[in-house]
Amino acid sequence: MSGKRDYYEVLGVAKGATAQEIKKAYRKLAMKYHPDRNPDDKEAEEKFKEVNEAYEVLSDDEKRKMYDQFGHDGVNGQGGFGGQGGFGGFGGGGFSGGFGGFEDIFGDIFGGGFGGFGGGGSARRGPQRGADIRQSVRITFEEAAKGVKKKIKVTRNDECDNCHGTGCKPGTSKKTCPNCHGTGSIRSVQKTPFGNIATNRTCPTCGGTGEIIDTPCNVCGGKGSVRKTKTIEVDIPAGIDDGQMIKLAGQGEFGEPGAPRGNLYIVVEVAPHPVFKRDGYDIYLEIPITFVQAALGDEIEVPTLDGKVKYSIPEGTQSGTVFRLKEKGIKRMRGNSKGDQYVKVSVEVPKKLNERQKEILREFAGECGSGNHEKKKTFSEKIENFFGKKK
Ligand SMILES: [Zn+2]
Ligand SMILES: [Zn+2]
Repeated sequence: MSGKRDYYEVLGVAKGATAQEIKKAYRKLAMKYHPDRNPDDKEAEEKFKEVNEAYEVLSDDEKRKMYDQFGHDGVNGQGGFGGQGGFGGFGGGGFSGGFGGFEDIFGDIFGGGFGGFGGGGSARRGPQRGADIRQSVRITFEEAAKGVKKKIKVTRNDECDNCHGTGCKPGTSKKTCPNCHGTGSIRSVQKTPFGNIATNRTCPTCGGTGEIIDTPCNVCGGKGSVRKTKTIEVDIPAGIDDGQMIKLAGQGEFGEPGAPRGNLYIVVEVAPHPVFKRDGYDIYLEIPITFVQAALGDEIEVPTLDGKVKYSIPEGTQSGTVFRLKEKGIKRMRGNSKGDQYVKVSVEVPKKLNERQKEILREFAGECGSGNHEKKKTFSEKIENFFGKKK
């Protein structure tokens, strides 16, 4: 980016110039170096580009600030604003939009929009690609974990069977547009005080495609597509999570004749499970156990996605203890491994005890020494130390 002239210098204004002054200076120089006033003058063309580039930056508050701070590096090159981009086809091709300030200024002088500059360039646009469709599908927790094939009904613009998507009555074909002779654009030349200005406009007859349908298909009316509801089978991979999307390329809306179809995006909604919770590829589950099971230990049945498994809770298991069942989680979408299942036990204290049960428990409590409830013991000791021992 060396050898570039200072933008203020290019426009011949002071660093602190107002927006008005910049606009005025630009107008004057743009007129002077305009390609239509300097045909086949390479130097003028270069100057014209330079002036436009300078104006594009200095007329934009944001870009001007960057330029003032960082110079050309601030507004050019990768990650910058692409100062020179969008300026590709001069002299030859058309000016295909994306250049705000320019039209602004010339619009009021020459009147009418600026289709293109110079001549020769073609504004022909291809037929439009079909739109994308988003459709959601609801699956169960287990289906998400193991993968599932789902049939989904999609209503979309589909290829017309009568004309096979061409839009033409069978036996006929498209014709070159008589208005633009296939170029897709209409050129007109305006005489102005500054010389002749050629303008290319998109051809209104063919919409820029350069072709017209002479005898439209009587089923689709020339669109090439009709509304149809189709059942599509979607392969939902194991491991998919709520809110994730599956892209089915080319399954969206039918485009204009000759253009590719849009894509179909299937948004997957996973229904919550009554007991399992999911975090990534791991599964969480809480199991209530009795305080007798917790104290004596027991073999319990733990539900997993692969069915029930037996698990031995050791003697003296505390409420809130979490144990892990390796590889009992959800299959990862990439690779063959699985997440884990975490099981948290919560000790349930019995309610509504009858007299006999209470009796046994009181007797049990009498049997309990200081070593039976360690946490309680250390806690009491800490409290006593804190408040000072009474008695
Ligand atoms: Zn045309
Ligand atoms: Zn048709």
